[in-house]
Amino acid sequence: STTSKIQRVTLIPGDGIGPEIAESVKKVFSAVKAPIEWETVVVDANTGISKEVIESIKTNKIGLKGPISTPIGTGHQSLNLGLRKTFNLYANVRPCLSVPGHKTRYDDVNTVVIRENTEGEYSGIENQPVKGVAQSIKIITKEASTRIANYAFQYAMANGRKKVTCIHKANIMKQSDGLFVKSCREVSTRYPSVKYEELTIDNNCMQLVLNPAQLDVMVLPNLYGDIVSDLCAGLIGGLGLTPSGNIGDHGTAIFEAVHGTAPDIAGKNLANPTALILSSIMMLRHLGHFYEASLIENAVLNTLSEGKVKTKDLGGQSTCTEYTNELVRKITESL
Ligand code: NAD
Repeated sequence: STTSKIQRVTLIPGDGIGPEIAESVKKVFSAVKAPIEWETVVVDANTGISKEVIESIKTNKIGLKGPISTPIGTGHQSLNLGLRKTFNLYANVRPCLSVPGHKTRYDDVNTVVIRENTEGEYSGIENQPVKGVAQSIKIITKEASTRIANYAFQYAMANGRKKVTCIHKANIMKQSDGLFVKSCREVSTRYPSVKYEELTIDNNCMQLVLNPAQLDVMVLPNLYGDIVSDLCAGLIGGLGLTPSGNIGDHGTAIFEAVHGTAPDIAGKNLANPTALILSSIMMLRHLGHFYEASLIENAVLNTLSEGKVKTKDLGGQSTCTEYTNELVRKITESL
């Protein structure tokens, strides 16, 4: 895509290992000559989400974010949640792809969880009407359900996916999950080229563990999405390899690794940048830069499957810099 315009992207390196893995992404992006210009802004426990950060993301619409530590036990809302709320990032997207060089119980996982991120069980409306009784109100709206279903099908189309499965418990929660399913079903009729299925959440969990290859894109209400996305991360070997995207209206999106700041290894050049690199690949695809995304993805998958250059968390000996240099070498070779 040599003719495409340069897109400015807000880069939040974060803290802990954040700056090290963000540096790695920058090197890899230079190697593929991605048409991206970084605008680096600081978000940490001291600065909070400043006006400058909000302006930057509003203008650029796209952000890549390293992990940010959340101090435990203070009244602060997590900065991660703050960003999600500020920009109404209604879809949480988490692809899980088996990585050949990283042995787990499964070698054929290729799923994408699309989680509704704004309502459901997370509306935060709870009370105790009488002593000894607590209630929590789950809100499902047609508007948000239709929006997430549309996003799931659009994603499937844009990424060459074959099937969308709506995950629910409408047999018990007839009204709320019933509305979610009905909305998904309606939307599905507008995308005849994508297969559509429905599964209850309990059955979905069993099917994922028995044979994850049968699932492709899944669309879920908030709580089920939270749980199933971690289940899927576990299938491919956990935090080091799981990217995510938080998507809002008009293309606004923030991409980030699922893991935290890893304070135990920060500043030691030991961090594995793969999850943030995979997040940046999602970002490139979101922006339509499929060629650059595939070049980086191939370099990552080939390096990991060869197994010679791997970071410590994956059982290797290499530093973050050595691993990054190997990716750059492979990319340069393939150009
Ligand atoms: P963590 O993910 O930072 O670390 C858990 C373990 O995994 C540690 O042993 C760490 O060394 C290892 N690890 C994580 N990412 C790694 C990587 N890329 N390469 C190599 N090893 C890696 O989780 P935690 O210790 O529970 O949290 C630390 C801090 O991060 C906390 O302040 C927490 O609030 C924050 N956090 C932020 C985010 C985010 O910004 N999205 C997410 C989770 C946690």
